Amino acid sequence: MSDLFWKSATDLASALEAKDVSSVEITQALIERTEAIEGDLQAYLLPTADRALADAATADERRARGQARSSYDGIPVAYKDLFVTKGITSTSGSRILEGYVPPYDATVVERCSNAGLPLLGKLNMDEFAMGSSGENSGYQLTRNPWDLERVPGGSSAGSAAIVAAGGAPWAWGTDTGGSIRQPAALCGIVGVKPTYGLVSRYGMIAFASSLDQAGPLTRSVRDAAALLQMAAGHDPRDSTSITRGAPDVLTGIDDGIAGMRIGLVKEFSTEGSDPGVRTRIEEAYNRLEKLGATLEEVSLPSFEFGISAYYLIAPAECSANLARYDGVRYGLRGAGDDIIKMTSRTRAEGFGAEVKRRIMLGTYALSAGYYDAYYGKAQKVRTLMIRDLAKAYSKVDLIACPTSPTTAFKFGDRTADPLAMYLSDIFTVPVNLAGNAGISIPCGTSPDDGLPVGLQLIAKALDEKTMFKAAYAFEQDLGFASSEEGRPKL
Ligand code: GLN
Repeated sequence: MSDLFWKSATDLASALEAKDVSSVEITQALIERTEAIEGDLQAYLLPTADRALADAATADERRARGQARSSYDGIPVAYKDLFVTKGITSTSGSRILEGYVPPYDATVVERCSNAGLPLLGKLNMDEFAMGSSGENSGYQLTRNPWDLERVPGGSSAGSAAIVAAGGAPWAWGTDTGGSIRQPAALCGIVGVKPTYGLVSRYGMIAFASSLDQAGPLTRSVRDAAALLQMAAGHDPRDSTSITRGAPDVLTGIDDGIAGMRIGLVKEFSTEGSDPGVRTRIEEAYNRLEKLGATLEEVSLPSFEFGISAYYLIAPAECSANLARYDGVRYGLRGAGDDIIKMTSRTRAEGFGAEVKRRIMLGTYALSAGYYDAYYGKAQKVRTLMIRDLAKAYSKVDLIACPTSPTTAFKFGDRTADPLAMYLSDIFTVPVNLAGNAGISIPCGTSPDDGLPVGLQLIAKALDEKTMFKAAYAFEQDLGFASSEEGRPKL
């Protein structure tokens, strides 16, 4: 089979089932593709080619015995380095976790391994998932396969870049304020932020626990639904994981969207976005309408405060979560002959500038005397956002908007101005604050710079099924993802 590495996981699964190809052949093709592009891309912190090939050989044996563990048994996957992997270094992109080898697998990893997915490796990311460009990684810069001078987006930078470039059919990322959807948009692929609690956070290195969610990055909507389904559902080891059954997002995915009501947010008028993004997004709205949806304006007045609330809540939670990196329990240890010196040095050397900034912001927001004015207020805004959304969902089934106000930007363009960087997530953070589900799907390239643009569809909590149906119908009608035009020329 030519260009095996460009095939979707779903197509590869059918080829495996038909015995047209083996898992070892697929895995080998992906490893070769990765070797050819990785010098430019720098997506992996740790490729695990030997492990992937060994897993693939076992998958082939299982299939030969008629004992495939799932229909995807033998289709390889890669993980953002924030998922802990037993016996394999996991750093969350931070120097403070350099050399940390976890003794267990994250639930996501465990469930995908149980389904038979060979492990391709661990992917680069912004340190502790704080960032929108990958530039906050403590290790390396991952490049955007569409233009090597530009960022792939973040924080799931490596996950988006490797999938977009054909090095893996799918990868796992995490999204606290946009870190799956935004890089997916900037790299021209599909990215899903599931409802909070749908996927277990057990074994995900924590950033902001009330916002963090794991989700798939893929080149097709169906693959995203399949990978999500593999890992979704209650996990007794995560007390915030949902106890009712996960929605079956694959059945009926091709039902179409005739009759669906889709809301366009009045306050998200496309004015603030790049003209090229605006063009594609407006076309996307027309396409949804052409496919049978009715478009309606909805008002979400509290969304204006989304970024402000997020940058109090997320740093507050991170300041608590990151207190565990003290030089005693994990990874790096700085020199010092007493505990204060040792811990201070460990943190000074191990944490990058953005992480330090967030810890300081969060500690301040939570301090006595300021708590009510900052953290308390932000929580109130969060409640208002949930109410505004509930009101909108009484009129519409889904909400559509851009994923990112711009296409991929150049390295260094926003690093000097944290606020400009934070605004990259203006359309994505409200979804995390409200705990809703969101998907970013490619809607073509910008006429201004030829770079991919992403359309975001937002669904109410646990209504992933509706979201996937709409995304699938849109993707099939547009035909971008499956065409040459939808692939970077790397
Ligand atoms: N860019 C946002 C931040 O820096 C979101 C990150 C994320 O979703 N992990 O916090």
